[in-house]
Amino acid sequence: MDFYRKDIKAVFRELGSSAAGLSGEEAKSRLKRHGFNELRDDKKVSLLKIFLGQFRSVLIWILFAAVAASVFIGEYVEGAVILVIIVVNAVIGFAQEYRAERAIAALKRLASPKAVVLRDNKKGFVASRELVPGDIIFLEAGSRVPSDARLVEVNGLEVQESALTGESVPVLKECCVLKKEEVSEQRNMVFAGTVVTKGRARAVVAATGMGTEIGRITKMISDVDETTPLQLKIDAFAKYLGFAAIIICGIIFSVTLLRGGDFIEMFKVAVSLAVAAVPEGLPAVVTLALAISVQRMVKKNALVRKLPAVETLGSVTVICADKTGTMTCGQMTVKKLFVDNRVIDVGGDGYSSKGGFSEPLGHNARFLLKIGALCNDTEINSEIIGDPTEAALIVSAAKAGFAKNDLESSYPRIGELLFDSERKMMSTLHEVHGKRFMYTKGAVDIVLNLCSKVVVNDKVMKLDKKTRERILKADYEFAGNALRVLGFAFKEVKGSISEKSLVFVGMQGMIDPPRPEVKEAVEQCQKAGIRVVMITGDHRETAVAIAKQVGITGKAITGRELNRIRDLSGVVNEISVYSRVNPAHKIRIIDALKRRRQLVAMTGDGVNDAPALKKADIGISMGKTGTDVAKESADIILLDDNFASIRNAVEEGRAVFDDIKKFVFFLLSSNMSEVLVIFAAVLAGLKLPLVAIQILWINLITDGLPALALGVEKPEKDVMSRKPRRYGTHIVNGSMILRLIAVSAIITAGTLALFFWALQKNDYVHATTVAFTALVVFEMFNAINAKSDNKSSIMRVFSNKYLLLAIISSIALQAAVIYTPLSSTFHTSPLSLMDWAVIVSVSGSVLLFDELRKLTARFINRS
Ligand code: ATP
Repeated sequence: MDFYRKDIKAVFRELGSSAAGLSGEEAKSRLKRHGFNELRDDKKVSLLKIFLGQFRSVLIWILFAAVAASVFIGEYVEGAVILVIIVVNAVIGFAQEYRAERAIAALKRLASPKAVVLRDNKKGFVASRELVPGDIIFLEAGSRVPSDARLVEVNGLEVQESALTGESVPVLKECCVLKKEEVSEQRNMVFAGTVVTKGRARAVVAATGMGTEIGRITKMISDVDETTPLQLKIDAFAKYLGFAAIIICGIIFSVTLLRGGDFIEMFKVAVSLAVAAVPEGLPAVVTLALAISVQRMVKKNALVRKLPAVETLGSVTVICADKTGTMTCGQMTVKKLFVDNRVIDVGGDGYSSKGGFSEPLGHNARFLLKIGALCNDTEINSEIIGDPTEAALIVSAAKAGFAKNDLESSYPRIGELLFDSERKMMSTLHEVHGKRFMYTKGAVDIVLNLCSKVVVNDKVMKLDKKTRERILKADYEFAGNALRVLGFAFKEVKGSISEKSLVFVGMQGMIDPPRPEVKEAVEQCQKAGIRVVMITGDHRETAVAIAKQVGITGKAITGRELNRIRDLSGVVNEISVYSRVNPAHKIRIIDALKRRRQLVAMTGDGVNDAPALKKADIGISMGKTGTDVAKESADIILLDDNFASIRNAVEEGRAVFDDIKKFVFFLLSSNMSEVLVIFAAVLAGLKLPLVAIQILWINLITDGLPALALGVEKPEKDVMSRKPRRYGTHIVNGSMILRLIAVSAIITAGTLALFFWALQKNDYVHATTVAFTALVVFEMFNAINAKSDNKSSIMRVFSNKYLLLAIISSIALQAAVIYTPLSSTFHTSPLSLMDWAVIVSVSGSVLLFDELRKLTARFINRS
């Protein structure tokens, strides 16, 4: 629709809205009519597709060939059983993949942005997907425009429209009716998917969802990267192993044929062995473990947007975190005023307007509080819409009886120079009794530099050196007590607006206490070999005082000092507090740390933080206070903005890597043992200890249940007292290979020995049943081994109920194929109690061996 051609009144009329926006009721009914403001996700994988995907592997086709072979020679039951095994495998694979898919979809929903909307005449947050045409929305630097909208009011609005036009230079927007020749540019409209880089605006939603420009042109673009380097490596590794296994199976097949073995039986054995040996379940279990870990992280308030971050987290060596809101509560309360060369204490806590002043307020103190409320873009409704610093100023003014709304109607705002974290200040222009006044607030050092006069006891005088020093000293003292300090100034504007020759009025100092849990989290990070660095736009003294309270020690430097350092990488490892920095400094810090081979996690929330978030190995954005752009650039979003959640995410990242290591060890040792048992028997010219269907059965039970259960092992207690894992190290390293060889050798030797022992009775079926069961029991003991690679597993047998359940059900299923009519299909005969006793005691040797190995390793490490 041509909203850009019409004047704003006509637009409102057509949209059935007004400058006051819609009522909640009306918005609800429009939502029903128009549907959600989202693009249809055409990339959604259908269930059928996931299911069919399970049959893509060549191995499955070989298995189908085995079914055909069985049917051909009349072994219908065996053919049916193999078919059932294929289907069960596919169903397990399907369930895993479907769960991972769903987890990722749920995460996408959680990450969906919010918009600031005017409804029922109140500003509030609404999920962007619930926007409807006619809604009045507010945009500011860093917002992603949630829908197509016609601009109603703008202030220096610049929008980057590359998502739509490919053009990366931001476009300056206006809200007027366009002249005829300008119409093609649609400069009075903003479009869904584009990004506000500067300024602010109020706009009326014109189209939502698939009705937007972007909805028309493109389909949903998926944000979540789904494969991680580890997954790729595991995939490649599994393929490589599979290839090796198939060659071994080929050898076994040819050797036995040459010796005159039965072709059909040998073909089936070779195929089953190939299926058993190829760790086809491995990539799926890795994906599932990562997906489950991502869900656990969400419960701990860390939302992972990019799956590779899960792995990188475990290797982080430096966390650079913002102070305000991340390390501190971000709930500010003005505690002190500095005005007329005196300090006045302010009572009360939080955002309640209860609380008084330590002395009656003079004219100047009241003026200071009024500036705080007027030069202010925040609103306090049921929640704070805006900046907590500004909320504190609204509250301090309210304590003196000044309501922001009343002040704004008495002294209407007629202009503004917006805040950004590079300028560290902002100004607003007001009409006061027919004159124009500018009110300014910002970092004291910066505001003071722009002042030429000061008002003391209602007299405006020159800002001399002595007064300047007195102000700076008070600023220093406030900051040294961990207060966040802002300076306030004004001037009468006669010509154009400029933030020069201001009159300094005073300061307000607010507390923003550290979050109670941060001190412990910092300590735990340090124990885990991770350095915590504070980066803030705030005053050096405030930063140092808070750093001390949360246990961060080390050198502190300011942004200005940073500018003078040529080679930051020389000193970067000693600096723990950076103050008065701007977002560009963050890039330098990351660069320097990376040059020192550190793996860096960096937090950020503003629009200008996006490049740093992208540059860091792990970019972390704030969920509550972060802009859309910061969130979209980040790998992880902290839902509660809390530093302690970063620590939790790191712990989870380390734990999931441990878990992956556990089931990789387990699956590989199981597969190796199965191949070795057959291979050794064939090489030694013996009868086969297992028949084809038994191999498939073992593969199904052992590759399935215990491996899945190992994927959800609880983190070991010492995950956060180890040094960070080197990024990119292989899961299957030298020591794992040695452990794999030793364990598989024991399982193979034990199984073959039991086979021999049983063969003494001259009953082949009985002997294979013993070998078959022994292999299963061995692997159950080995699943217990896999719980830890250096700590005793026996002591922790009960710590994972899923693993216990998996072991018990595997044994029960094994009993089922021995003692029920299934036994004829599985070529088994019933085992006696004595058989079981012998099997269990021999199989236990693998647990005993690994426990002894762990004990020796611990002993060597300690001494
Ligand atoms: P952090 O980087 O830890 O989040 P910060 O909030 O101090 O800390 P910025 O938001 O970049 O970082 O702010 C930089 C400085 O600008 C602040 O220390 C303060 O002096 C000043 N400032 C912050 N908010 C405002 C505001 N709304 N109006 C004016 N000045 C502000």
